[in-house]
Amino acid sequence: MTAHYRFIAPRLDDPRLLGDRRYSMLIGGASVPALSGETITRESPAHPGHIVSTIPKGSRADAERAIAAARAAFDSGPWPRMTGAERSRIMYRIGESIEANIEELATIEALEVGKAISQARGEMGYSAELWRYAAGQARGLEGETYNDLGTNTLGLVLREPAGVVGIITPWNFPLLIGSERIPWAIGAGCTVVIKPSEFTSGSTIRMAELAREAGLPDGVLNVVTGYGADVGQVFAEHPDVDAVNFTGSQRVGRVIGSLAGQNIKRVGLELGGKGPQVVFSDADLDAAAAKISGGAFHCSGQACIAGSRLIVADSIADKLLEKVEALAAKIVTGDPLNDASNVGALIHHAHFEKVAGYVEEGKADGATIYSGGTRLGEAGAFFAPTIFTGVKPEMSIARDEIFGPVLSTFRFSDPEEAIALANDTPFGLSACVWTNNLSTGLQAIRRIKAGRTWINGMGDGTPQMPIGGYKQSGIGRELGRHGFDEYSELKNIHVTLTR
Ligand code: NAD
Repeated sequence: MTAHYRFIAPRLDDPRLLGDRRYSMLIGGASVPALSGETITRESPAHPGHIVSTIPKGSRADAERAIAAARAAFDSGPWPRMTGAERSRIMYRIGESIEANIEELATIEALEVGKAISQARGEMGYSAELWRYAAGQARGLEGETYNDLGTNTLGLVLREPAGVVGIITPWNFPLLIGSERIPWAIGAGCTVVIKPSEFTSGSTIRMAELAREAGLPDGVLNVVTGYGADVGQVFAEHPDVDAVNFTGSQRVGRVIGSLAGQNIKRVGLELGGKGPQVVFSDADLDAAAAKISGGAFHCSGQACIAGSRLIVADSIADKLLEKVEALAAKIVTGDPLNDASNVGALIHHAHFEKVAGYVEEGKADGATIYSGGTRLGEAGAFFAPTIFTGVKPEMSIARDEIFGPVLSTFRFSDPEEAIALANDTPFGLSACVWTNNLSTGLQAIRRIKAGRTWINGMGDGTPQMPIGGYKQSGIGRELGRHGFDEYSELKNIHVTLTR
């Protein structure tokens, strides 16, 4: 079945596209170029040939400069010594400032990431919420007391900030992922050096500038831009960085994890996924189809929690696939700056080729294209929402994180088979289950190894609940009350009391 996809060709005379935004790094409160003076340019993946931003090409020396600024801010600056309430007020103002600047921040991400601006606006609004939630919690981070250790002993557990935190983020949700990490780190009293992706650094730099304007003391949040091996790796190696938090591919996660291990450094890893969407025969098929399509094709499938494997009961599979395909055909792909677009471009042309390569491999392996599988538009990295049927667990389209709009479908007749298929992956980031029987849903979710799960839903998030991966999807948890533990040290004090 081949759907007729809806596509809006990017407008090349859009005034927001014209002009190269030039950014500086932010180190110790100062906007600075790279020590070498070198820069990296970013071309819009939706508008080939159009440079949309230029960032400093940082080096190890720049990373060291930023680490020194964060170290000084931690060791002798005001931030770790402020009351929780004082920190909280500044963090809340940062959230308000993000909210007030949604349009600018969303435009930057639409241009650099190639994502639809309507999607970007939603992410900026949620990022502001993350800051405000963390601000509230940061007022009351508690320790513990033990009063049952005997008449002459009192036990205290102090929560202390972990120190300087190095954060490395990927290109797909730069401001959102930064906002899932930074407020928890600085809310715990730490100082931060962050390296955003070389493809999409603009919104992170602007967020740090807004934070400075909101009253964040110099050196608490430093941004170094550049390539991973030149800058990000230094965070995992440098003795003045106490904790490193990496979000990105499994390949680089292994490098960061082993460097952190060699240097005995705290490490958090948020890596990839191959999320199962399990649909039992009693599910509400219309509701499921809408979220399955959204879960697989949102952001062109370039989401770590993408539900890229559909595992559906045989008896309803044909009906469900028809519905999912009809909804996929309604997705408007195209001009990221057009309010009517739901989905924009893939991140760059090499990634487009990688996604197209997986689709060819799926066909060669014997899977069937149910719909999609083609480029959309003449230029620009746009790929049609693609559904495969007849997928076998050993195929690369079943196993690898494609990070494109590709949904691989499996059928089951026995619910045990569904759970086995869902767990048949080295990843464990996300999963969802569709059924009208809550017991069936809970029993299934309890047996699926994944950190972020939904019953009769997909993709929703709240700042209150922790996120993170099982298995090879990562180590550690962000958000909620647990999120502060990643950036805290616990110290126990045995107090001997005299009478
Ligand atoms: P990537 O691993 O290529 O890059 C991530 C970041 O690491 C970038 O800033 C990059 O410059 C940097 N980097 C690259 N090599 C490095 C090195 N040797 N040392 C230090 N830093 C280095 O990932 P990507 O292509 O930017 O992002 C896509 C991946 O991110 C996908 O696998 C996706 O699933 C994952 N992701 C995970 C989450 C999550 O929360 N679990 C969220 C979003 C994306």
